[in-house]
Amino acid sequence: MDMADDPAIVMRRVEYGDYDLILTLFSRSRGRISAIAKNARKSRRRFSGRLELFSILHPELSLPKSGALPVLQEVRLLEPLENLRTDFIRMGYAAYWSEILCLWLEEAAPQPKLYGLFQEMLRGLHGGVDSPDVLSLICQLGFLTLAGLSPGLDTCGGCGAALGETRAGRIRFDYGRGRILCGTCAPISRVHPMAPGTVKTLSWLQGKDTVSARRMQFSREARQEGLAFLESFVAFHLGRDFRSLKYLRSVRRDVWPGFAVEEGLGECRLLRHGV
Ligand SMILES: [Zn+2]
Repeated sequence: MDMADDPAIVMRRVEYGDYDLILTLFSRSRGRISAIAKNARKSRRRFSGRLELFSILHPELSLPKSGALPVLQEVRLLEPLENLRTDFIRMGYAAYWSEILCLWLEEAAPQPKLYGLFQEMLRGLHGGVDSPDVLSLICQLGFLTLAGLSPGLDTCGGCGAALGETRAGRIRFDYGRGRILCGTCAPISRVHPMAPGTVKTLSWLQGKDTVSARRMQFSREARQEGLAFLESFVAFHLGRDFRSLKYLRSVRRDVWPGFAVEEGLGECRLLRHGV
């Protein structure tokens, strides 16, 4: 990618009319933008395979007339990241992260740090060296930090005791407080129990850059419990059952036969509006 590139990632593709596609892009310089690719489905030559989901491209857009979508004029494919479309697990994670960002990003509001995180995570997922579930821990925690929604994992939300001083046994995360609880303090809402090792892992990850985080080895328990917690926490804050998460979980169940931890997201939504 050279300096003249203004990269954007394809987060969503929707068929429109008989011939067109509407794309939702995450542009490094412009944030979320929607654009129409005219005749993309009519003529194979027009954009020939350069508008695939999760690829990184340089779009040239026309200035929109008022109330209309910008029209995609030309596209230069920068990185196809084709492994994200041929492997079910990788496709599941890429679709889940995209759905979170499509929902959370505001139209035409640049988020360069979030763009950088998302691009790094997709490249990692495509590369095949990193474990996809570890990348999803890093991606979700990074998103929550940049969105100002970080879960409080270091001290008790009731009395302020540090994580290391809490009694042995499972640690509860209190959704109402947005923090963990020690063994003594009472919750004010629904709780999510986790092993102390999982909470320590997530807390450690919150303070680390992605390079150090990707070098770390995680226990199977920390990965599975950490994902179950973060997926529930993101849904709680964004007030949404993510369609892609249902797909991801069904694929993951085949890979991890023992992975049965699933949250009732409807419950999260009730809690969000009730407390
Ligand atoms: Zn306490």
